[in-house]
Amino acid sequence: GATIRLEGLTKRYSGSTVPAVDDVSLEVKAGETVVLVGPSGCGKSTLLKMINRLIEPTSGRIRIDDEDVTGIDAVKLRRKIGYAIQSSGLFPHMTVAQNIAQVPKMAGWPKARIKARVEEMLDLVGLDPAEFQGRYPRRLSGGQQQRVGVARALAADPPVLLMDEPFGAVDPITRDHLQDELIRLQHELRKTIVFVTHDFDEAIKLGDRIAVLREQSHIAQFDTPEAILTN
Ligand code: ADP
Ligand code: ADP
Repeated sequence: GATIRLEGLTKRYSGSTVPAVDDVSLEVKAGETVVLVGPSGCGKSTLLKMINRLIEPTSGRIRIDDEDVTGIDAVKLRRKIGYAIQSSGLFPHMTVAQNIAQVPKMAGWPKARIKARVEEMLDLVGLDPAEFQGRYPRRLSGGQQQRVGVARALAADPPVLLMDEPFGAVDPITRDHLQDELIRLQHELRKTIVFVTHDFDEAIKLGDRIAVLREQSHIAQFDTPEAILTN
C-alpha cells in the first residue's frame, strides 16, 4: 500500500455557486481501507475522481507517498491507482480478458505475462478463467461484471485502489458475497483502499476507518467503526 494525503482539496464546477467539495484534508495510511460515507450529492465521486485525476481540483493538493499526483504521467498514474466503479466500467466491445489486460498492456507488459496475470486475477475474484476470459461483458451477470471490474482494477498490482459504490448495482445477497470477498482480498493484498458508499452498514463492515461526510464533503467524523458506533 501507499499513503494518500489530501490537503485542502476543493472542487468548484464551472457554473456552480457552491463548491462540490470544499477544503477537504484527509490522510489514508498505507494498507488501510478508508470508507467515505455520506448522502448522495455530497461530493464523494468528485473526491475520488480528483484523486484519480479524472478531474482537476480547483485548489488543494493530493499526495501519494509524498509525490504530488498532478506531476505524474497518465500511464504511471494508472499503475499506481486501480479504479472500480458502480457500473463496472467495462468496455462492452472488449472481452473479459481484454478488459483486465488493459492497464498491463498500456504499461508494456510482455504478452505471456499478461495472459498469466489475467488468469490469476480471474481466479482471485472467483471466476473460472476458461469459462469467462473470452466472454463479452453483456453476457455476464451484474455480480460477475463487478468481479471483473475489481479484477481489472487490480491487474497491474497498484498500491492504491479507489472504489466508487462498486457493489451499488447488485442484489443484496451478491453484494454481501462481494463485500466478504473484498475483506478477504484486503487481508491478502493489503492495498490502500478508498471506498465510497452511501450505505452506512457497508461502511461499518468494510472500513478500517470511516469518514462520515456532510454536504460539500465536510468531514463530520473520522474514526474506527467501533468508535463511530459508540458515538
Ligand atoms: P456523490 O458522489 O456524493 O453523489 P458527486 O461528487 O457526484 O456526489 O456530486 C457532488 C455535487 O457536484 C452535486 O451537487 C452534483 O450535482 C455536482 N456535480 C457533479 N458532477 C458535476 C459536473 N460535471 N458539473 C457540475 N456539477 C457537478
Ligand atoms: P468515463 O467517465 O466516461 O467512464 P473515465 O475517464 O472515467 O471515463 O474512465 C474511462 C475508463 O477507464 C473507465 O472504464 C474507467 O473505469 C477506467 N479507468 C479510469 N481510471 C483508471 C485507472 N486509474 N486504472 C484503471 N482504469 C481506469
